[in-house]
Amino acid sequence: MDFEMKEKKFHCPYCRTEITVLLDPSVPKQRYYEDCEVCCNAIEISYEFSDGELIFFQALPEE
Ligand SMILES: [Zn+2]
Repeated sequence: MDFEMKEKKFHCPYCRTEITVLLDPSVPKQRYYEDCEVCCNAIEISYEFSDGELIFFQALPEE
């Protein structure tokens, strides 16, 4: 099955800037760090897909 990358918008947990990320549904579960373009803080992003549907998304400040 071929899944298209999914766009997800969220707000930076530090400066509240709206950030858009591309999520890969072919990877059912992922956790990684992304630096905010505005405040340069590391954001911990975790998400989960089930049958190509985003069932979980979280953007947290780095601990
Ligand atoms: Zn930020």
